[in-house]
Amino acid sequence: MPVKSRPGFQTNVDRTSKGVARGTVYLDIKPDQTLNLRFTPTSNEDGDVFFESAQHFKFRHENEKRAFACLRVHGNEETGTECPICEALEAAEQTMSKKDFKKFADLHKQSLRWHAQVIPVYPEDAPKADQTFIIGLSQTTAQKVSKILKNERDMRQPLLTDPDEGQIIQISRTGSGFNTEYDVLPLGVRVGLDALLPTWESKFLNTEKALKLRVEDRATLLEAMEETFGAALFQELGIA
Ligand SMILES: [Zn+2]
Repeated sequence: MPVKSRPGFQTNVDRTSKGVARGTVYLDIKPDQTLNLRFTPTSNEDGDVFFESAQHFKFRHENEKRAFACLRVHGNEETGTECPICEALEAAEQTMSKKDFKKFADLHKQSLRWHAQVIPVYPEDAPKADQTFIIGLSQTTAQKVSKILKNERDMRQPLLTDPDEGQIIQISRTGSGFNTEYDVLPLGVRVGLDALLPTWESKFLNTEKALKLRVEDRATLLEAMEETFGAALFQELGIA
């Protein structure tokens, strides 16, 4: 007797992993990866190519993994601009051993990132990007991009963010851990955004909004700190 066929199709793992990966707006540079990027015009009102974020990572709140925006940088009228997490780190530096403090700070200290909107330029035979992305760079890497911009202005060349005449910037990641380095190379190849991604204007993101920073009030941060650090350490740090 033939086996009765069951409903549904065979699972395609590759297809699934591609599907769930889609939809993210963040573009990461993986170890030993080289990316060719076209920077779009900025969505920041002040004209800064980069939106600077300051976040505290590795927290838990109501049993969920959380990162919180540092209120010293992102606080508003509602939340105030005093950050209890920064205060806890300052208190910990006074009370913990050097070794313990380093561990604590590596996990939770304010982490700064410089974010810009880019469209990756893939090789001729690869599919083209169908959206714009947000890339988060370290200060050193962002400074390298900023230096190229300054040179372009000084040499009266189109800026790398120019929608029509901007040049491709190549960023390569090498090394690992503390020896990770990012090289930033202006390729001198000019490509219009319209040619690269004809729908770029409708796909254009607001960098700050796309980051979805979690700006929470002091009470919420204190709850998360107690849950993450444990009651004993939280008490010991004396932040209220
Ligand atoms: Zn902070």
